[in-house]
Amino acid sequence: MSQLALPTASATRRALVLFSGGQDSTVCLAWALQRYARVETVGFDYGQRHAIELKQRLVVLDEIRREFPEWGSRLGEDHVLNLGILGQISSTALTDGRKIEMQANGLPNTFVPGRNLLFLTLASCVGYRREIDVLVGGMCETDFSGYPDCRDDTIKSQQITLTLGLGQRVTIETPLMWLDKAATWRLADELGGAKFADLIVQHTHTCYVGERGALHAWGHGCGKCPACELRRSGWERWATEAMHA
Ligand code: ZN
Repeated sequence: MSQLALPTASATRRALVLFSGGQDSTVCLAWALQRYARVETVGFDYGQRHAIELKQRLVVLDEIRREFPEWGSRLGEDHVLNLGILGQISSTALTDGRKIEMQANGLPNTFVPGRNLLFLTLASCVGYRREIDVLVGGMCETDFSGYPDCRDDTIKSQQITLTLGLGQRVTIETPLMWLDKAATWRLADELGGAKFADLIVQHTHTCYVGERGALHAWGHGCGKCPACELRRSGWERWATEAMHA
């Protein structure tokens, strides 16, 4: 890969990416590595049903360093915060063994109330300590499950709250906010070509059930849970588009 020219405003700026090892946050990571001089990552261990996500995030970081040396040279420290407390204060299909289903309020029972608010607040604390004022997250209002803390207004409001509360400017970037899943695959391809799209297929983890299982064209997963369903249908739309382009 040739030397990437960073936009001048970002030439010295550092960013912290909320990185779970899933498809969306991996695309956000590449997006940030394309733009910022130094990029660190933060992940949260909150007693997910399957620790596979935490394992895959390290695999993805290694693969990026190995396959994309230009990006790798900007990739800094990885931070993992233990949020076991989230399992204590919420009972959801993501943190205990319950079946994934829709609740009466129209949200799937994978919803951990206010999770992104907590994640962004903690990330801003890590950023403050590391002199990083840009946070990057994969929140998305387009193909989402209706989580209110993924909404653009929620994020903008929190950006102001954190800026006031920390006494210094915090910018929250959400490059996927208005993209559907097909467009997220397209963005991955634009950022790092077929090699990066393939890295996402092979190594990122999205499945709620935590199944790696067989490798489908769109990646590993059970193929039936809402996360696999979104990932698969997005991939199919993107693949069809690419074929006709
Ligand atoms: Zn699944």
